[in-house]
Amino acid sequence: MDIVTRWRAVREDMEQAAHRAGRNAADVRLVAVSKLHPSEDIRTLFQAGQTAFGENYVQEALGKMAVLPSKIAWHFIGHLQTNKAKHVLGRFALIHSLDSLRLARSLHDGAEKLGRQQDVLVQVNLALEKQKSGIHEADLRPLAEFLARSHCLRWQGLMLMPPFFDDPEGARPFFSRLRELAVRLRQEFGLALPELSMGMTGDFQAAIEEGATLVRVGTRIFGQREVM
Ligand SMILES: *Cc1c(COP(=O)(O)O)cnc(C)c1O
Repeated sequence: MDIVTRWRAVREDMEQAAHRAGRNAADVRLVAVSKLHPSEDIRTLFQAGQTAFGENYVQEALGKMAVLPSKIAWHFIGHLQTNKAKHVLGRFALIHSLDSLRLARSLHDGAEKLGRQQDVLVQVNLALEKQKSGIHEADLRPLAEFLARSHCLRWQGLMLMPPFFDDPEGARPFFSRLRELAVRLRQEFGLALPELSMGMTGDFQAAIEEGATLVRVGTRIFGQREVM
């Protein structure tokens, strides 16, 4: 099967999951995760109608942007070091992986200098996994207060990388916890926080049933990645 055929199948599965949950399929968007895949594959999918692409590594993403159509909406989904913040500002439609107050300050200062606003999601580490990025729920308040006040960072919602499960149902309780956390934050801070970025190749249908508005699917569309 080629990339476009696999992409179409993912979109069909997304639609069915939305309908099962009584949701409007248009409220769930696909971010095609293209990290470690060549620009030509991205171009092929873009021509087929996919506009949002997710990248994890700053240098790789900037290289692709330089050779691909400027209409592509790039999403930064990888771990972002504070000293790289200035390289992503203004280049990505959405940064999914804001996970510390330090990084938020750095993004805010950079955006202020550029005179731009940057859309961000806060990545939450709900399972308290040591090796994973994402802020712990217990540490969220100072970051949330900072974002609620920032006029340069537009806080759009939450992102989750759940623990790995072989079973697509394994992550479901984490998806519903992320949704509940967003409900509490909306009430507490009076913000809309419309986006929930959750669900990948193995579990995007369950994520949609639990309220995802953005799913990040790589392998099922592009095939296996080379291990770095
Ligand atoms: C690589 C990656 C994905 C895509 O994972 P697949 O299992 O290939 O669909 C999604 N989100 C993040 C944060 C990733 O790093």
